[in-house]
Amino acid sequence: MLLATDLDGTFLGGKSSYKQQLYQLIRENKDIRLVFVTGRGLATVIPLLNDPMIPYPDFIICDVGATIVHGHTLEPVEQLQSAIEQKWPGTLKILGQLKDITELKYQEVPQERRCSFYTEQEYIAAKVKLKVTELDCDVIYSSNKFLDVLSAGVNKGSSLVKLVNYLCIDHEDVLVAGDTLNDLAMYKCGFKGVVVGKAEEKLVKATENIANVYLAEFEGAGGILLGLEYFGFISKICKNETLLLQKSPDRSIQLL
Ligand SMILES: [Mg+2]
Repeated sequence: MLLATDLDGTFLGGKSSYKQQLYQLIRENKDIRLVFVTGRGLATVIPLLNDPMIPYPDFIICDVGATIVHGHTLEPVEQLQSAIEQKWPGTLKILGQLKDITELKYQEVPQERRCSFYTEQEYIAAKVKLKVTELDCDVIYSSNKFLDVLSAGVNKGSSLVKLVNYLCIDHEDVLVAGDTLNDLAMYKCGFKGVVVGKAEEKLVKATENIANVYLAEFEGAGGILLGLEYFGFISKICKNETLLLQKSPDRSIQLL
């Protein structure tokens, strides 16, 4: 199977005991391919790769879908990324196009093939969308503050579909996990999905009527474990049944 997970608030979130269980499960089962799908730029994902507790991802989709790299070499998956690169009009053009929208604050973070801002006013997102459509770009607004401009059609979902197809993995064997609106595109691609606990309300609403989306009770890693259980991946992964996910009476879950 392939677990495609957002990082902040999802894979990196939740109780540390659940994180340990999830990370151990992934480390010990080579049948699980791990893909990080994050809004972070690659430079801010790299420090996580040096943390011995966190399992190494096979692939990393970062910049909200605009970057697709191999986990071990950090080299781009050229075939997939070059198409994204070709479509991107460039940061200078985007900044020029938006120069009159003074309410936008540019995010001083590493970013490629996207242009990211802060704004807490939703109507600004609509205003930006109108402007960037002229450059064949689109807006992704999440957590009521992060506004990302990317080439039209580039998002976490479209990049994940490209990667899953490139790897010739059956879409049925994919589980996506997330917690904010910039994850929505992944659930819209028909994959099985878990929305983890304490997710952004707008994501919960937007995924309500999408088939195969499970709303987990637990936050972060605990929610991912519940999602793996819900869709039957735990029993598939642990064929010898020595590992079973159980909800104990105190409502914590344990891998036995
Ligand atoms: Mg998140």
